[in-house]
Amino acid sequence: MLPPIVSNFVAGESASASLSHVQRLNERGVNVILNLLGEHYHDRDPADEDAEAYLDLVSMIDESDVDACVSVKPSQIGIDVGETAFRENLRRIVEHSVAKDVFVWVDMEDHTTTDVTLDAYEELALEFDGGVGLCVQANLKRTPDDLARLADVPGKIRLVKGAYDEPAEIAYKEKSDVNEAYRKCLTFMFEEFDGGIAVGSHDPEMIRLAKHLHDEHGTDFEIQMLMGVRDDAQFELAETYEVYQYAPYGDKWMSYFYRRVRERKENLLFALRAIVS
Ligand code: FAD
Repeated sequence: MLPPIVSNFVAGESASASLSHVQRLNERGVNVILNLLGEHYHDRDPADEDAEAYLDLVSMIDESDVDACVSVKPSQIGIDVGETAFRENLRRIVEHSVAKDVFVWVDMEDHTTTDVTLDAYEELALEFDGGVGLCVQANLKRTPDDLARLADVPGKIRLVKGAYDEPAEIAYKEKSDVNEAYRKCLTFMFEEFDGGIAVGSHDPEMIRLAKHLHDEHGTDFEIQMLMGVRDDAQFELAETYEVYQYAPYGDKWMSYFYRRVRERKENLLFALRAIVS
């Protein structure tokens, strides 16, 4: 069983526990993106095993009456093993999910994986005419070019600030520069995309900007936040906008939990308050 403090950020250790979480969120108007915890496999076997686990998860979503999609980390399905392993596993997951009408997101990891991830996404999004989405990171200086390339590709794009510590030659390092880059990228997306815009941020300023751009251009968008971060805002926003909560599950929760706590000590305080209140 998950320690209570961890269960603020992690939807359960098993797929069935995660689906119970989805049901609770759906009842309050929030959609869920499920991510099986696991990353950086250097052997093919665990990468194939996690790909299989996603196929099972997608079948379970299809057989249940909950509204959920999935998000996959490239290094969890083989990108560190090789491009072929990654592409084969991603294709299996997307083919199965499209057949079951379950949407697949592809997370973005550090800059050494960007080209391979983008190429694989583009190929599948074109082949399946959507059904798949990709995360792009505003802190990378290349992202405006990537967005221009992706503007006419069917599918969805999740814009995030970027979670990886990248070299200064290729990435903005100052928070104010990253925020400025995020604002520019988001504006471009509302101007040039037909839809499929996902605002992957807890930042009230970025969400305000998205609402403003939506009013100006009429383009649809959704808001995505992590489980355990600004949960109240998620429920409130869901009264008016489409909101997705990114909820990880699985037994490899330890490093994910510490990452959330390291990121912001408020996360830990919030989790502690939820337990004692
Ligand atoms: P920050 O700059 O961290 O915070 C801005 C403001 O948001 C704060 O000033 C505060 O007002 C509010 N806020 C933030 N956190 C809290 C909190 N705990 N409590 C209260 N208020 C808070 N990164 C990747 O590199 N690749 C991915 O594939 C990826 N996928 C993601 C998917 C989703 C759904 C989300 C939400 C994030 C994802 N990220 C990913 C992480 C992302 O890159 C950022 O590191 C992370 O979201 C923090 O940036 P932020 O935009 O939330 O704002």
